Amino acid sequence: MKILLIEDEPDLGSTIQKSLSHHQYIVDWAIDGQSGWEYLTIDPTIYALAIVDWMLPKLSGIELCQRLRSHNYTLPILMLTAKDRMEDKITGLDAGADDYLVKPFGMAELLARMRALQRRAPTFKPDRLQLGNMELDYGNNGILVTDKQGSLSQITLTAKEFQLLEYLMQHPNITLTHERIRSRIWSIDSDAASNVVAAQIRLLRKKLSESGCSPTIETIRGFGYRLICN
Ligand code: CA
Repeated sequence: MKILLIEDEPDLGSTIQKSLSHHQYIVDWAIDGQSGWEYLTIDPTIYALAIVDWMLPKLSGIELCQRLRSHNYTLPILMLTAKDRMEDKITGLDAGADDYLVKPFGMAELLARMRALQRRAPTFKPDRLQLGNMELDYGNNGILVTDKQGSLSQITLTAKEFQLLEYLMQHPNITLTHERIRSRIWSIDSDAASNVVAAQIRLLRKKLSESGCSPTIETIRGFGYRLICN
């Protein structure tokens, strides 16, 4: 799941990015309001949520919220700010933010607020993702596979394999282009090579097949991939 973080404080931005990455989110980090707006206008459907600081260079968090809502962008917005007076909260919410977190805050609270916002979002997908004989194991960053005899095995995935499989499982039997996968699973400033999607798919496909998973990843030559689940 990809998150847009718009925060100009390097230490806080870096802490949030690391913490979210640790929890299997992919984070694009913009350091001012204007570049945040530009990231979003490339394709707003890439992001599940935006975390927006109130005080930002070039375009403030409030102005950005107002602009997004006036362009009918519906993605959930969580505002970060040091302001904690009631009238500031009202200003933030009136501008179109969905929730509000006052600095300093703990990462556990940020993650909980994010989960709450995602649950309310129209595009929300439940935490339990199951296809064929496999289920994504959010607790252990892996998959649970049931064999023909009904016994369960636990397979560990790397962070990228997990993010990639989650995205494929959210779109079963649909062909996803290389570019679409890359834009959602790798951050915008990633220096990953152009064949990174193909390389990760090969690794994941091997792991699924060796683990006896019934869904398979099909290559659509020159276009992309499809997770086949009958
Ligand atoms: Ca700031």
